[in-house]
Amino acid sequence: MKPIVAIVGRPNVGKSTLFNKLAGKKVSIVKDTPGVTRDRIYAEAEWLNRTFSIVDTGGIEPKTHDTLLQYMRQQAQLAIETADFVIFVVDGKCGLTDADAEVGTMLRRSGKPVVVAVNKLDNMQDISPIYEFYELGLGDPLAISAEQGKGIGDLLDEVIRFF
Ligand code: GDP
Ligand code: MG
Repeated sequence: MKPIVAIVGRPNVGKSTLFNKLAGKKVSIVKDTPGVTRDRIYAEAEWLNRTFSIVDTGGIEPKTHDTLLQYMRQQAQLAIETADFVIFVVDGKCGLTDADAEVGTMLRRSGKPVVVAVNKLDNMQDISPIYEFYELGLGDPLAISAEQGKGIGDLLDEVIRFF
């Protein structure tokens, strides 16, 4: 079994963009029983000859939800439970939000190894937006731009350190 790396975070932070960057070509969309879980998106990724499975948790649909926050919470919980390692994506343009703090709490409780990826830092000359994310208590946040493929190597170095 390859290690499973889940990409977790509130909606719109750039999870799918990062997933596609990491996925290369081998993207598989798994359709499960209707109404149970759909569009779970898995792919294989490789870094420095280490292969692992990545999961775009934006594609995990919880059975029930009635608020966006509840939806996000359930989705993140499912992903965290099945993951060996978690990439927690936050939005460096928006800064820290209550929803981020909530996911952060779930991750600290889970005890799973995690790296905080502060996304949308397209201008890597100024990575000062990362600092407020130390408040999450999940170690050193890393600056990335999923869209522009910046900071991805350092992120993957952190990921494979745990395998
Ligand atoms: P998800 O809901 O977490 O899966 O987020 P998406 O991957 O769908 O991205 C949400 C929005 O953020 C889209 O409009 C992306 O183009 C944008 N986005 C994602 N990554 C970056 C980035 O590195 N820089 C910038 N400027 N925008 C980004
Ligand atoms: Mg998405």
